[in-house]
Amino acid sequence: MTEPQKTLPIEKLSPKQLMSLDACIRCGECQKWCPIYTLNSVEDVTPRAKIKHLKSILRSQQPGFLRLFKPKADLKVMETFRRTLYDCSCCNQCHFVCPAKLDTVELWENTREGMFIAELGPVPEQRTYCETLKQYGNPYKKEQSARADWVESGLEKGTLLEKPELITDNLAGVLLFLGCTASYDEKINLVSQHAANIMNRAGIDFGILGPEEFCCFGKLRRIGDPDFTDKARANIERLNNLGIDTLVTACAGCYKTLRQDYNKIAQQNYKIYHLSEYIDILLAEGRIRFENPIRGKITYHDPCLLGRHNGIYDQPRRIIQAIPGLELIEMERKRQYSRCCGVGGGLKMANHPLQEEASAYRIRDAEATGAEYLTTPCPTCYSGLAGGIEKVESPLKIYHLAELAAKAMGIE
Ligand code: SF4
Ligand code: SF4
Repeated sequence: MTEPQKTLPIEKLSPKQLMSLDACIRCGECQKWCPIYTLNSVEDVTPRAKIKHLKSILRSQQPGFLRLFKPKADLKVMETFRRTLYDCSCCNQCHFVCPAKLDTVELWENTREGMFIAELGPVPEQRTYCETLKQYGNPYKKEQSARADWVESGLEKGTLLEKPELITDNLAGVLLFLGCTASYDEKINLVSQHAANIMNRAGIDFGILGPEEFCCFGKLRRIGDPDFTDKARANIERLNNLGIDTLVTACAGCYKTLRQDYNKIAQQNYKIYHLSEYIDILLAEGRIRFENPIRGKITYHDPCLLGRHNGIYDQPRRIIQAIPGLELIEMERKRQYSRCCGVGGGLKMANHPLQEEASAYRIRDAEATGAEYLTTPCPTCYSGLAGGIEKVESPLKIYHLAELAAKAMGIE
């Protein structure tokens, strides 16, 4: 006997979102720009097709509500939709090119939440990822107590200038919030050390949470796990209770989650900056100086979560341009048209080969500039792009932006 089709909970979509489904004029602009369609030429992954399928599913399951919509959904449509909804990095490119200005990412995320609740999604690897995140508080299955191991290892190697204070021991105005990748991933946790070194040199009264830092749980939201709301609320309460006035995060994913997703859940009593914004301010205020030249041509990758999602385009570029000896050469796809490196939105778990291809594609964009260096201010993009460099055996050398800033300040 065939199992009855599960119903997608329509209440997960706002009335505005439901109406926006009808605002799609099927122009196909999103298809031209979607980084996933560019890779696999599967029309079903495009926003245009996903919107058509979603309308069809909702109409068949909620006949009273969406009478205007035309075709009835069948099992095949649902299967196609389930397969393609997660082949998306939530990069927000489709929103920027859509003449109807559809808020596509919010639509995908709310739909994913409905799919999660109805057990129509996500793909099994993503569900496992969410369970890991909730069980361990990080995606690497590492102990909570190991979260600040980068401090001891940095001090031993001499890469960390001074041991940062724990904010729970000594209240400081500024919390440096590293995020899971910059805390645990040994290939990337130098970012944490560079960030702490820059803060130290600038004379900032800052602290870290160390072993008490926690995951922002942004990936739960991207994948659609409804537990995100409770996790976020608990995090906001903990952060509000610290009494800080400023939070600086080294991660574009944490930044988007705190700035946008948390703000929809509860008030946060602190200002939030991404590290690249903060370094830009320190430079403008003369609290740090770039006196050590770094010679060469460099290109810059805009992380989707900083750029299209938060409008941070100029600050990282000002940092690069302030470094003596560095010449910034832009990629053809830049700023609001920057091509996604594929690591976000849960795509890495849903379709790892596709994510790797996306990262490699972005490396080809970077190579086309003729630059010898590539930089980005996001630890997650950094890891995807570093994988892309390996995959295509590119001669490009990648730097996290904080590393460049530290080098230019003479911190090696
Ligand atoms: S760009 Fe917007 S209006 Fe055009 S097909 Fe895509 S979603 Fe529809
Ligand atoms: S968010 Fe990005 S990857 Fe997802 S459908 Fe839109 S353009 Fe494609």
